[in-house]
Amino acid sequence: MKIGIDLGGTKTEGILIDNTGKELSRHRIKTEKNYEGTIQGIISIVKKFENDFGNSESVGIGMPGAVSSNSALVKNANSIWLNGKPFKKDLEKELNRNVNLENDANCFALSEAVDGAGKGYPVVFGVIIGTGTGGGISINNKVINGRNNIAGEWGHVNMPDRTEDEKKYVKKCYCNKNGCMETYVSGPGFASCFNLKHNTNYDSHEILEEFNNNKERAIEALKNYVDHLARGLSLVCNILDPDIIVLGGGMSNIPYIYKHINNSLKKYIFSDTFNTKVVKNLHGDSGGVRGAAWLS
Ligand SMILES: [Zn+2]
Repeated sequence: MKIGIDLGGTKTEGILIDNTGKELSRHRIKTEKNYEGTIQGIISIVKKFENDFGNSESVGIGMPGAVSSNSALVKNANSIWLNGKPFKKDLEKELNRNVNLENDANCFALSEAVDGAGKGYPVVFGVIIGTGTGGGISINNKVINGRNNIAGEWGHVNMPDRTEDEKKYVKKCYCNKNGCMETYVSGPGFASCFNLKHNTNYDSHEILEEFNNNKERAIEALKNYVDHLARGLSLVCNILDPDIIVLGGGMSNIPYIYKHINNSLKKYIFSDTFNTKVVKNLHGDSGGVRGAAWLS
């Protein structure tokens, strides 16, 4: 049995699976927004599973951000109370065992590679397009971290070939750069580009409602969205050339994307043939927590 825990900003979810991936139990708690409380919450989930089912073989945790390879301290987490803390060391001390910590987008990629939409494909690129934009690479069912623990971090590369309009109607990224993929293809990014152009105050759901009612400006926004996604993914394809790309996060639930993304992407690929498919995830919101369990 393996325990996976997905540490989110508002909730912490745990899952217990057997070695075939069958879910045995699931438990969800509120994330305490402080360091000590977060650690105690994780311990309570592990203890609950082990009291009910006996000892597990491994504990994996998916979290925002990454563990710095230099200092072993957490960096880049939007759950900011974790940043600068020796999270792995403290958890291992409390639980008295090895704990695998991994970025949540990497957990998503691994989950879809092992027994999700990417099953059977050696090189899987997992993409999160939700509140933020992230990505992870799984090769032969192992997460690729990279020398600096930023492999697959696709949200903060510049979108290629930005038009004047695309430079004008976009917010500056929180990372302080201009033109990041996240500012175009995350849910809030998509909405913000629309709002700046049309002087509205919509969220992504309201734009989709207009789209479903065949409103011209929303149709155009979706068309552009797919093109933005394709331009960003073309960078990944031209370098990594993955076997399959799996989309996750709130925006991945839009059916329109899958009708058009493959054709859009082809245009930007440096190859006469292009067989990589872009598909929707299989595990939905459980991708992070299942991937965390598969980490060992
Ligand atoms: Zn950025």
